[in-house]
Parts: sequence; structure tokens; C-alpha cells
Amino acid sequence: MINKSTKGRGPDSKGLNVYEITAKTQVLIVGFGPTGATIANLLGGYGVEVLAIDKSTEIFPKPRAISLDNEALRVLQLAGLPEGAFDTVAIPEVRLYSPSVGLFAQIRTAGSIDGHPKLVTFHQPELEAALRTRVQSHPSVSVRLGVELIELEERSDSVRVVLRNREGGVSTVRADYVIGADGASSKVREGLGLGFDGQTYVEDWLIVDAKDVPAPIDHVEFLCDPRRPTPHMVAPGNRQRWEFMLHPGETREEMERPEKVRELLAPWGSPESMEIERTAVYRFHARTVDRFGRGRVFLAGDAAHVTPPFIGQGLVAGLRDAANLSWKLAWVLQGRAHSRILESYDQERRPHAKAMIDLAKVMGRVVMPRSRFGAMGTGACLRIARRVPFLRAYIDELKIKPRNRFRRGLFLRTRPARPRSRPVQLVAGDSFPQVWLSGPDGKGRWSDDALGAGLSLVGFGLDPQKYVGDAMHEWRAAGGTFLQVCHRGQRLHRGNGDHVWEDVSGGLVPDAAPIEWAAVVRPDRTIMVHGPIAEAPRLVRESLELLNSSEAKRSRPEPLRFHTNPTMEATR
Ligand SMILES: Cc1cc2nc3c(=O)[nH]c(=O)nc-3n(C[C@H](O)[C@H](O)[C@H](O)COP(=O)(O)OP(=O)(O)OC[C@H]3O[C@@H](n4cnc5c(N)ncnc54)[C@H](O)[C@@H]3O)c2cc1C
Repeated sequence: MINKSTKGRGPDSKGLNVYEITAKTQVLIVGFGPTGATIANLLGGYGVEVLAIDKSTEIFPKPRAISLDNEALRVLQLAGLPEGAFDTVAIPEVRLYSPSVGLFAQIRTAGSIDGHPKLVTFHQPELEAALRTRVQSHPSVSVRLGVELIELEERSDSVRVVLRNREGGVSTVRADYVIGADGASSKVREGLGLGFDGQTYVEDWLIVDAKDVPAPIDHVEFLCDPRRPTPHMVAPGNRQRWEFMLHPGETREEMERPEKVRELLAPWGSPESMEIERTAVYRFHARTVDRFGRGRVFLAGDAAHVTPPFIGQGLVAGLRDAANLSWKLAWVLQGRAHSRILESYDQERRPHAKAMIDLAKVMGRVVMPRSRFGAMGTGACLRIARRVPFLRAYIDELKIKPRNRFRRGLFLRTRPARPRSRPVQLVAGDSFPQVWLSGPDGKGRWSDDALGAGLSLVGFGLDPQKYVGDAMHEWRAAGGTFLQVCHRGQRLHRGNGDHVWEDVSGGLVPDAAPIEWAAVVRPDRTIMVHGPIAEAPRLVRESLELLNSSEAKRSRPEPLRFHTNPTMEATR
């Protein structure tokens, strides 16, 4: 239990075994699961001093997340994981079957968005190990495993936390900010006294990972059979995953018995020839916290939201939290933005996390039909819906997935005057597209890697540096950088320097915006504001106002530091 006030009850006064971690840190991350480890990498990349703790000494071994989408992979790229850092299988399609109508929906997931496959499966412990390895490259990040948060007290200028190690030793740490990435039963959330409303499903599910399956599939399928709903999918390492819904009265012990697991797997080949690697029984929840933080304490990942896994968005949402929160904390701690910007974390993340959970609940109703009649009805309705071209695109092309475009937050959505040539596809509060660029030396790079860690003024076809005028000094002080994206083969109007790149595919210039356009792109790749490049001084001024940078303590703003990801250069 976390005490919000611990005055006069420090560990010394209790005569406890005191051990030393560190007296002070800029950010304490409670929980070093995938969300906490991603945040540690992002903050470490920005040069923020971090202490990350976890009460467990091991990576959680049981089967959990198996799929990630292109947005999640983009965040992992931002966190410095090179392609191939963990194994993935790109999924070509997701099929939904019902016993009465057969195949009734097919979601096409082949192809990529923003440089990443639309859907992959992966092995969560391997991803977590890769994140932990990457953290070691950040000198400003310390990790302590086997250390638990036991008390937390927010003060006006810091947060005081009491930690306990496995030997029972306690230590007090003062942090400028605390992030609770401590999972669904978050102590940090409990300490903040925030509600975690939603529902817990009555059904339990048995999750099975097996290797060397005689009749494997190469996609994802949902067997929407009311007798035993079963999602089933391919995974890396020659694995297949099944999720079997338990019937009322079936117990965890009975279902995890090897002979029962073998019986369930029999339709996919002789279970004797398979290696049943892992099993676990879970009950799913659909809950969101009232606020994603309060004062100097923030929540991220499962600590802030939990979802049934039917659309594979639990960890993905945690990764979105990580990208959204980390740069804001870095900018505040390094004196480039006012702490008021941190309020936008809740404004931007909570509605989207909730929308994803709502979609997962709808998918749950499709996957878990209550009766044969219900299954037949759902299957038939979806089949008919797919005959209507608009609805077919909505289902098959995954347009049903809520777009990660903010309604409120740290961006400025003005109606730009129509440019002369092509329409502008950019929307402030939406994500900036990622494309493959070619550099002056002919080397290729993803545009996110070329953008680097800064708050970037991107010029379409023209060199943005030439247009900022008097705002240059203030822009640089606020962590502002520049990127010129030339169209394919462009020779005229090219600037000089390593910020000049050519858009090989045309996905940015001219598809996203025409020449003479400009956009301010946040370090989490959200578009802050955009408009004609001739108005660059206004775009810069509006961005600085959004950051409240004039009110931030900018006596000595820290220079930008970022660990780029050189291996990404060689990925195409
Ligand atoms: C069956 C199943 C299938 C899933 N499938 C998918 C999927 O396909 N795609 C997807 O995106 N998501 C999926 N998820 C969800 C995904 O696994 C979770 O969202 C993700 O693991 C959450 O990561 P986290 O870092 O936020 O929390 P966790 O992984 O729970 O990590 C929290 C960490 O905090 C530590 N901790 C807790 N309390 C303290 C304390 N007081 N002090 C110190 N440390 C503490 C814990 O030891 C733990 O290591 C699935 C989940 C399940 C169960």
C-alpha cells in the first residue's frame, strides 16, 4: 500500500535496513515491463536522468502480447530498436470463421504503413529483452531489479518515494517526476487514488503457445464458434498461438493439464509431435483510469488502461503512451517547455485508449457469440456488409480501427489557406507520415531517423532554414531542428547540409503536401502546426507558444542529445 503522506515515518525512524540506490533522479519509472523499458529508452535517448525499478528480477515468462501494429513498431524504432532486434512474422490477413456461415470476414493486413508492416506477431519476452539490452546504451539510465515501490508522496517540487529491495532494505529517492508503468494492479495508480472504471469479463481464457505444429497456419484466424471461441495465429520461432475460451465450470487447473491441452490442439495435427511451450489462463478486463496522471506522477501502459486482447492493442497503447509522454517530460526537464504541456498527455492519450478498448469490446462480441443463432446472425450480417463497397473497405482495410488523431492537445489546427497546387493531406494533431529518404551521399534512411530527436520544422521542397528569419535563435533554444524534403530528382532550391533529403517515393512531397509547404513535427511525430513555408516565422512562433517556452525556465536550456539508430540506414 502506498502512503500519500509519509511525514516523520521514514525508513530510518523505523530502524529498517537502509540501502543506497540514489538520492535523487529526474524521472523514476516504476515497472520495467515493455512500457517502462520503452520509456527508459526514449528518456535515455533525450539524455534525461532516469532510475527504472521493477519488483521482479526476471522478464515475465508467461504468454501475453503476440501482435503489434505499424504504430507500435514505429514507436520501437523511435526508442532505438533496430529492425531485426526481435523476431517478427508479418501477417498477410486476419480471417473470421463461423461454424454455420464459414469464412465471413477477411481483413487484409499485408503491406505497410509509415514504413512498417501493418500487423506482425512477435514473442513478448524477446521484445522485452531487446528493450533491456538497448537501455544499457544510455548512460543516464540506471535500472534496479528486485526493487519495489512501497511509498510515494508528492511534494510541490518533487516526489518522494520509498523503495524496498528483496532483502528488505529500504531506500528513499527524490524524483522530479514519477511514471507508474507498473501494470494492471498498479500501486502508483492506487496511491493516486484514481478510479479504474470498466468491466471484467466473466469468461476465462486458456492461452497456449506450441512449436513444431504439424498443420500450422501463416495468418491469424478467429474461430467464432459459440461452443469454444478460438483465436489462432502464427508466431515467430516456429510457434503457433491459440486462445481457448473456457466453459462455465472448467477450472484453470483442469485446462492447463497437458492431456487437456493436447486434446484441444488435436485438430491441428498429432499433439505428440508438437512442443507445448507455454500455457496460462487469464480473465480479461476493459478498464481506463480516470486521468493519466496527477501533478508530478503519470501512468502509462496497463497501469492506465487494460483491454481484452481481441484486436491486439494492449501493449500497442502502452507504446503510444511512452512516445507521447517521454518527449514532453524531457522538454520540461531540460528547460525547453513549461510543465503545463504535461496536461496534454491525458488529453491526447485517454480518448484514444478508450476508443481502442471500445473496439476490442465490439470484436469480443463477434469472437464470442453467445449462441449458434448469434454466430449465424453476426456472420451473415458481416458477409452482407462486405458486399457494400464502402463497408467492405471499412472492414477489410481495417478502417474500423480508431485513428490516432487527437481532438485536443498540444497542436494548433487552423484552416490553412488553400495552396496553389495540390491539396494538403497533413492534419495537425495527426501523425506525420514516414517515408524512405535518400541523403546527399546516396545513403537511404527512414524519415523518422532523419528527423532525429528535435522538434522539427520540415520544408517541402524548400529549405526551411531560409524562412525562419529572426525566430532562428529561439527555435534552436527550444530544441528546434530543420529538415528539407526534396521531391525526386529535385535540383533547384536545395539547401546545404545534412538536413537535406530526397523523398524517393513521393509519399511526403508531393503526396502529403505540395512544394512551398512546411510543418512543425513533434519528437513523437505528431504534426503540431503546418502552413505555407513563407509563413514559417508564424509556424515557429505558434509552436513556441504551445510549448509555453517563454515561460519555461530557459536560463540554460540543455542542448539536444539523441542516440540515432545507425542500423536503420541499412534496412532497405
Ligand atoms: C493473453 C494476452 C494476450 C495479449 N495480447 C496482446 C497483443 O497481441 N498485443 C498487444 O499489444 N497487447 C497484448 N496484450 C497486453 C500486453 O501484454 C500488455 O498490455 C503489456 O504487457 C503491458 O505492459 P506494461 O509494461 O504496461 O505492464 P507489465 O508488463 O504488466 O509490466 C509491469 C511491471 O511493473 C512491475 N511492478 C508492479 N508493481 C511494482 C511495484 N510496486 N514496484 C516495482 N515494480 C512493480 C511488474 O513486476 C512488471 O514487470 C495481451 C495480454 C494478454 C494477457
